[in-house]
Amino acid sequence: MFDSLFQSSASAQTTDQAAEPVNLATAKAGSRYHVTSLGKTRTARLEVLTAGLAPDAVIDVLRSSGTRPRIVACGEIRAAIGEDLARGVKLLQCGCGCGCNNERDNT
Ligand SMILES: [Zn+2]
Repeated sequence: MFDSLFQSSASAQTTDQAAEPVNLATAKAGSRYHVTSLGKTRTARLEVLTAGLAPDAVIDVLRSSGTRPRIVACGEIRAAIGEDLARGVKLLQCGCGCGCNNERDNT
């Protein structure tokens, strides 16, 4: 048992960041993410900020399909982010060893 634990940690991942960075446009509905970047340009960041997201916020993606606006839940608020804007919002999937208290219990 100890051996298998040791081997998996030694061979599989060399870094702590197991989760691939994604953006809001490709995020899966029903998943929870950490916001790592609001956008590439100042204008984009301001727009996303105005919509209600913040850097390091934890969001639930409620709807993500086609070119329709992405609907996300961030605490009490719901925000709709246009698909073009969503593409610049960088996310990290929650629950892959991020160590926060927002990981879902349902497996
Ligand atoms: Zn997390």
